[in-house]
Amino acid sequence: MKNISVIGSGTMGNGIAHVFAQHGYDVSLIDIKQEFLDKALTTITKNLDRQVGKGLVSEEDKIAALGRIQTFTALDQGVKSADLVVEAATENMEIKLDLFRQIDQYSPDSAILASNTSSISITKIAAATKRPEQVIGMHFMNPVPVMKLVEVIRGYATSDEVTAKIMTLSGKLSKDPVEVNDYPGFVANRILMPMINEAIYSLFEGVAGVSEIDTVMKLGMAHPMGPLQLADFIGLDVCLSILRVLHEGFGNPKYAPCPLLVNMVQAGYKGVKSGEGFYKYTAGSKDSIVSPRFSK
Ligand code: NAD
Repeated sequence: MKNISVIGSGTMGNGIAHVFAQHGYDVSLIDIKQEFLDKALTTITKNLDRQVGKGLVSEEDKIAALGRIQTFTALDQGVKSADLVVEAATENMEIKLDLFRQIDQYSPDSAILASNTSSISITKIAAATKRPEQVIGMHFMNPVPVMKLVEVIRGYATSDEVTAKIMTLSGKLSKDPVEVNDYPGFVANRILMPMINEAIYSLFEGVAGVSEIDTVMKLGMAHPMGPLQLADFIGLDVCLSILRVLHEGFGNPKYAPCPLLVNMVQAGYKGVKSGEGFYKYTAGSKDSIVSPRFSK
């Protein structure tokens, strides 16, 4: 595999493009607007600069990696020579199904089509294409250049050969892949999201405040980050949509999203990306200050 098309240049897409380019692959990065692609290139440059600063990447390798990334707003052009397409667009079923129909139409017949979805059924996405055995989940973790795990999700029809290729490829990106089957939330989010939801319920019901809940989980369970801060980091809208997939997929009320999370997302408080969630984020500051709404 040489040519990788990455669809969506947001939080995850720019990280995925970064990692492939850094490991010598040619990347076509696709989004709906050039301004999103320009912003992604700025972010990738900044993140590579940080790696150079830490001595993890040389200046020459940084320049070479950036030189391997091309940007496209036309999907047909961006996927036409792909060996692998990694879709990392917005977590929305209609968007993904529509994208996979188009990718199937415009990419070479031999291409493997992967989705970075956090929770949408790979089997359902695969069924929107004429090559379901070549469709697979490649679930990177945020921030992609730093996190080692790739959850490799086999859809109902995914072939052994395609699974083996993606496991090997993930290793070539210096990641540790783990193979799982396609059920709601896979493994990562089936376990993580109920914990985040329970943390939000604890806040909602007044059991404890934001920093108390996060401190209990950091100091008591050795988590590097508390669940509320992690929810802000993932994006509260992303957390809500994953919980809805779990709730619908299992039909079990234990996955019902906390009303506080629903309200926050409806009001546009999405965490780090909108500047405020359970914490307030000031550009350039590394301090996490509890949102005034939740401070006593
Ligand atoms: P994001 O909102 O930061 O970025 C999504 C990008 O997709 C945007 O730039 C948007 O313009 C683009 N997009 C939307 N429709 C498109 C289309 N038709 N064609 C091309 N681009 C399109 O979202 P994100 O957090 O990067 O999430 C992307 C995917 O990764 C989702 O499936 C999400 O569930 C998954 N994911 C997210 C995280 C996380 O921590 N944020 C972790 C793992 C997986």
